[in-house]
Amino acid sequence: MSEIHTTKCLIIGSGPAGYTAAIYAARAGLEPILYKGQQPGGQLTITNDVENFPGYADGVMGPQMMQDLDKQAGRFGTDLRYGVIEKVEFSKTGGTHIAYDDSGIKIEAETIVISTGAAAKWLGLPSEAEYNGKGVSACAVCDGFFFKGQTVAIVGGGDTACEEASYLAKLCKKVYMIVRRDELRASKIMQQRVMTKENIEILWNTETEQILGDGENVTSVRLLNNQKNESYEIAVQGFFVAIGHKPNTDIFKGQLDMDESNYLITQNDSTLTNIPGVFASGDAQDKIYRQAVTAAGTGCMAALDAERYLVEKEAMVNA
Ligand code: NDP
Repeated sequence: MSEIHTTKCLIIGSGPAGYTAAIYAARAGLEPILYKGQQPGGQLTITNDVENFPGYADGVMGPQMMQDLDKQAGRFGTDLRYGVIEKVEFSKTGGTHIAYDDSGIKIEAETIVISTGAAAKWLGLPSEAEYNGKGVSACAVCDGFFFKGQTVAIVGGGDTACEEASYLAKLCKKVYMIVRRDELRASKIMQQRVMTKENIEILWNTETEQILGDGENVTSVRLLNNQKNESYEIAVQGFFVAIGHKPNTDIFKGQLDMDESNYLITQNDSTLTNIPGVFASGDAQDKIYRQAVTAAGTGCMAALDAERYLVEKEAMVNA
């Protein structure tokens, strides 16, 4: 028979959202269990310097920040576990939810905070992985600052690419937007924003063949004009990829409400999903802001919502 554990609050995921939910839930006496998932620490473990998280005056390395959060969540008694939740059977009627981890443990949880995050989509070029953190990034807001006054390129034609290109244009001397078709997918207002910036040049019908560097840093990128079938190089110091993100929500399909891109839908002014006692936080439910600090904020909200839910449930039982 499988081992059964019980908890007032199961937290799935260990990015800033999950750890912040754990800190709040543990301090509120919910004795949370947190599963770290496939990438313990989440997306920040593949980032270098984090300079925009309030409180770190001198910046912090992404992995260090996640270790700090892990320690802080553990200090208040969170049961921190390496492992993956593979399946959840949600109770639609306010009952106990049942989760199964990858070691065969069954967890009965009164509330669940989902903070499984999202993963940036990459082009899949070997050079992209080689220069990740050495000029290649999937987050302009995180890493744009390191290219102040320099020339960068950004791939993508959606709202994210436009927003990030506009952001980069404020910092960088020149921004090339690499767009594979002859039009942008982004909303009209975002399109206008990039088209009216003098230092943004859109390279239409263009694909990335290779990111080139000197082994230490990116120095240029080789592009292909897919209409003329011509390859050429442009000199850049930074290369940003903004071709979309994929929320890690596959295991909840068919049970939790999601939008067309599989981001979890939460109710207005709360983190509540369509299932009572189940709350969503961080990048799994946020395709707009996607910052460590906003993820931490919604993680806090989810834990407060879970605590409130349990108090109200108990009051109803005692009434
Ligand atoms: P999208 O899926 O909307 O856009 C992805 C872009 O990347 C498209 O232009 C696509 O090209 C391009 N692309 C995809 N794969 C490749 C590839 N392999 N090589 C080159 N280019 C590629 O993703 P976003 O992240 O931009 O947006 C996701 C959602 O979030 C959208 O609904 C968006 O509206 C929303 N959002 C809203 C914001 C806001 O309101 N402020 C800010 C950011 C996002 P193609 O068009 O040819 O498929």
